[in-house]
Amino acid sequence: KGKRAFIAGVADDIGYGWAIAKSLAAAGAEILVGTWVPALSIFETSLQRGKFDESRILPDGSLMEITKIYPLDAVFDNPDDVPEDIKTNRRYAAYTNWTVQEAAESVKQDFGSIDILVHSLANGPEVSKPLLETSRKGYLAALSASTYSNVSLLKHFLPLMNPGGSAISLTHHASQRVFPGYGGGMSSAKAALESDTRVLAFEAGRKHKIRVNTVSAGPLKSRAAKAIGFIDTMVEYSKANAPLQKELSADEVGNTVAFLASPLASAITGAVIYVDNGLNAMGVGV
Ligand code: NAD
Repeated sequence: KGKRAFIAGVADDIGYGWAIAKSLAAAGAEILVGTWVPALSIFETSLQRGKFDESRILPDGSLMEITKIYPLDAVFDNPDDVPEDIKTNRRYAAYTNWTVQEAAESVKQDFGSIDILVHSLANGPEVSKPLLETSRKGYLAALSASTYSNVSLLKHFLPLMNPGGSAISLTHHASQRVFPGYGGGMSSAKAALESDTRVLAFEAGRKHKIRVNTVSAGPLKSRAAKAIGFIDTMVEYSKANAPLQKELSADEVGNTVAFLASPLASAITGAVIYVDNGLNAMGVGV
């Protein structure tokens, strides 16, 4: 009770970020979100117009409240990193303080501290290309947006996280096994994210008593997943071949994040927790 969460990567009511926000809100946490600058205006307008009201309903019948929405672009750490064309871009110029460092400073000014940090974002401009056809630029962009963004978020929010707090990201099993179609260096980005989870758990644990974990989620037809292109196939494949033959709901991932953020998980850190109906346990589909 009384915990405060900052969830980076919420821009609609269908992705994992939204479900995580709901599960944390249902468990009594105050919700702050960080929304990608180019998606912010539509997200805020839709929220204000009540477009998400039905999906805001919590198990007790009340509506999830988002206390504050922060603009965020997690590929930039501070204003010095921002190139001129982005600075002057109409969508970006409409907002201020959206680099990671500035967002953390804003949250600190507004609320002082947080207890829970969630990274639910990824971007790989060449995701639909096989690794052998991925450019250096595309590969590094995938790592920057999907992996270093997590290091940077933790680095900048750690000073305002209360001891005992928890940081959680989302990963994909393509880090460990081959998922043809999950290209552009995104498989590499997730492998690095999982490795970072262990190192960050050590460093943040020793320094600040913060736990760091990542949830390896099964397929969900989110906006980002639709952009990859084979999400319907993955949903069907999982339903046909996983130990639990049901569709995965985003809430199941949200509830796991709420568990990991809670004192019930007080000895869990540096872990990759699969929430995928058990699909990762299978060697072949049957
Ligand atoms: P989503 O589209 O709901 O979430 C991705 C979010 O990242 C979006 O809100 C987007 O605006 C934001 N974003 C992109 N670039 C950003 C940047 N530079 N700065 C800030 N925000 C940025 O899709 P999702 O599938 O719910 O993805 C959330 C996480 O779940 C990702 O890490 C993804 O890899 C992971 N995941 C998804 C699946 C799946 O099947 N959908 C499976 C396993 C893991």
